[in-house]
Amino acid sequence: MTKVLLNESFVEEQEAKVAFNDRGYNFGDGIYEYVRIYNHKLFTAKEHFERLLRSASEIGLELNHTVESLTSLVRELAQVNDVSNGGVYIQVTRGVAPRDHAFPTPEVTPVLTGFVKAYDRPYQKLEEGVFAVTTEDIRWLRCDIKSLNLLGNVLAKEYAAKYNAEEAIQHRGDTVTEGASSNVYAVKDDVVYTHPANNYILNGITRRVIQWVCEDENIEFKEEAFSVDFLKNADEVIISSTSAEVMPIVKIDGEDVADGKVGDITRRLQAGFEKYIQSHSE
Ligand SMILES: *Cc1c(COP(=O)(O)O)cnc(C)c1O
Repeated sequence: MTKVLLNESFVEEQEAKVAFNDRGYNFGDGIYEYVRIYNHKLFTAKEHFERLLRSASEIGLELNHTVESLTSLVRELAQVNDVSNGGVYIQVTRGVAPRDHAFPTPEVTPVLTGFVKAYDRPYQKLEEGVFAVTTEDIRWLRCDIKSLNLLGNVLAKEYAAKYNAEEAIQHRGDTVTEGASSNVYAVKDDVVYTHPANNYILNGITRRVIQWVCEDENIEFKEEAFSVDFLKNADEVIISSTSAEVMPIVKIDGEDVADGKVGDITRRLQAGFEKYIQSHSE
């Protein structure tokens, strides 16, 4: 039986009821995180929960939690469900109040929910690479907040699914921003390029780990915006996320990236990532 998190309690999934007037339901008024579990341990939990607290603060949502309290709640959720490899989803909405756009006055208590799911690492895809398509980025201008408002991302991912692609790489005009649920990198002449971590992208924790690996390996990491053309003419293309890890892209819009094979820099980043799984899980 699956137990989910509802505020501070672990309840059977079938018994976990949320309110009709929850602002998450009415407005997508809330934020979330997704944390990976490797070998019974949480990977980069501190970074994820720091980001959750930042997202909350950016939307003026006051959360009665710390990195430590969130970590222990999520760790317990994984334990009660006996999940050794998989991921934990946790979300917070502003709370329950009669539908009105402005924040409720007086303030209401935020609603925290979460679930855990077991799954294996995507070994075959990491080995062979996956396909992507490109699509216009139609999202709002605060993509740095991991918000529950995901309609732009949902439509982009659905577009990818329609073309049997793993991910939709979004661009604003000519500038590549990020995937529907991942960050995007173009490798050219051994330099790793990725969009700067500003309001146009979600600053991924996996992106940060890739940056650490680049420092360790003396690979140049350039936070510099690039064009769709640059992406399509890159030597290697990669996406990254908590679930996809360091994922090679070998085809974009039906055309091979370079020779269509996974490149050397990608392999070095993947190998470096493995070390961080060991050193940053607890
Ligand atoms: C969560 C997310 C990412 C990846 O972030 P990670 O912390 O690496 O999982 C990238 N882009 C978007 C839009 C996301 O929501």
